[in-house]
Amino acid sequence: MQERPDLIVCEECDAVHRRPTLRHAEIARCLRCDAELERDTGSRLQHLLPLTVASLIMFVIANSFPIVQIELQGLSSQTTLVGAVMVLNTEGMSLVATLVLATTILFPLVQMLILLYLLLPAARDVRRPGVKTLLRLMQIVRPWGMVEVFLLGVLVALVKLSNMAEVLPGVALWAFGALTILLTVVVSFNPRYLWRILVTAPAGNEKGAP
Ligand SMILES: [Zn+2]
Repeated sequence: MQERPDLIVCEECDAVHRRPTLRHAEIARCLRCDAELERDTGSRLQHLLPLTVASLIMFVIANSFPIVQIELQGLSSQTTLVGAVMVLNTEGMSLVATLVLATTILFPLVQMLILLYLLLPAARDVRRPGVKTLLRLMQIVRPWGMVEVFLLGVLVALVKLSNMAEVLPGVALWAFGALTILLTVVVSFNPRYLWRILVTAPAGNEKGAP
């Protein structure tokens, strides 16, 4: 299928519209069903790179410091979220462990890394290998990387560990709190807008466009 940056398709009713030029904070709506087609994202996109970097730093801090104190066979030890996942696994809860690992570590990390790669100025060229694939991958991973899913994973881990672990009110817990807030902004950003900006305004050479 050929890319037509001048056209926009309504995600709700499939009506095709000419892409409007949006001014600051303007939102374009579908004429047929009133669904949101597009909104002005100028300033949000500017903030997205620093927010993504901040999220990654928080992610590293949150996962580097112990978040729970675990009592196992009379031994008490403090461990990180990954350590807690491993405990869940060895305690015969491998399904829960996999779920927690995927929702709290894997999906957010994949999303943040893809976003970081796409937002770095050097990557702002849609013809660069991997950019289209990564944007599609992000659309697929997106529902699993939402903050609700992330929090659900943390909650499941804590509930499952509750009889043998105690949450530590330390650095990791605060970092997870900050990460949740940052992810709300970063992950909720629709890759569709990123797509448009990468497609319609590639940095550098413009020649060769059909
Ligand atoms: Zn519509």
